[in-house]
Amino acid sequence: MPKPKVAFYWCASCGGCEEAIIDLNEDLLTVAGAVDIIFWPCAMDFKYSDVHALADKEIDICFINGAIQTSEHLEMAELLRRKSKILISFGACSQLGGIPGLANFWNREAIFRSSYLDKCPSVDNPDGVVPQTSSQVPEGELTLPAFHNTVKSTDQVVDIDYYLPGCSPAPHLTLAAVMALLGGEVPPKGTVLAPNKALCDTCPRADTKPEKLMLEDVKRISLHAADPEKCLLAQGFICMGPVTRTGCSADGEGRCIAANMPCRGCYGPPSEVKDVGAKMISALASIVGLENEETMSEADVQKLMNTAVDPAGLFYRFSLAKSMLRRKQPDTQTKE
Ligand code: SF4
Ligand code: SF4
Repeated sequence: MPKPKVAFYWCASCGGCEEAIIDLNEDLLTVAGAVDIIFWPCAMDFKYSDVHALADKEIDICFINGAIQTSEHLEMAELLRRKSKILISFGACSQLGGIPGLANFWNREAIFRSSYLDKCPSVDNPDGVVPQTSSQVPEGELTLPAFHNTVKSTDQVVDIDYYLPGCSPAPHLTLAAVMALLGGEVPPKGTVLAPNKALCDTCPRADTKPEKLMLEDVKRISLHAADPEKCLLAQGFICMGPVTRTGCSADGEGRCIAANMPCRGCYGPPSEVKDVGAKMISALASIVGLENEETMSEADVQKLMNTAVDPAGLFYRFSLAKSMLRRKQPDTQTKE
């Protein structure tokens, strides 16, 4: 009996999700023995023409990581959707836009200006050349994919069957998902293949998180030592555990919490949270007492607000492209 055909592809990605496959360690041999990997350009020499040559739906399971930021990403996402029975959005960038999605605070012109023109000390570019989709050289025409103005999650451009969350997805979740799908256990379409609970619900420090928190200021983990036994939020560190799906560690503790670092939200929200940043800002507003704004002086409010450095980048670190806001609006963008 032929083995199921599996493909992996990366879009706007750091490569960490590809390494997450290798992190399966010896279990990778189990997976590799059970499937036929027919496309994995990061690891082996495959060509796009190999995918074009496949019949529609010939790939049984395709994992796509990274956000959609160029015309090449879009083209490949559409092609792999057509060629795959099951398309899994793999990792935070694919599911939510992730770190590349923070580009939505800017636009293509501002990013090119910063990367190739006036702000990048490591670039020597006296002619002010920025990437072009087409350039004529003596040998003929050279082409590059078009760089999009707005970063999108994979499901904003193609139909997705399942999501494996995380930056990067934890090996135990990946293995469980692959073995379940290979065994014919097919969850409802759209399922996020991680427990539908907040990290706080499984965090061993939850007992030290009081029902009602009152913070006087917000601390930065780089400037203050955290007590390794107590809830980080109760100590004044912004921890995204209340609005983040658990599952990053098999024991529920949270990979960052185990390292005494606050959660940054890479597993995305549990299903009841619609907008990670808005929910966290709302939770924080009540924690720091801003719900009683009328009893606080303007200076008190301003002091509290000033303690949260880069709040947009903090609260929407992984989810801006998938948020209600999605991007900074073009009319304000052009004034930068
Ligand atoms: S440390 Fe973070 S994840 Fe753990 S209970 Fe506190 S807020 Fe929740
Ligand atoms: S603790 Fe939060 S940021 Fe860290 S790996 Fe888990 S979900 Fe991601």
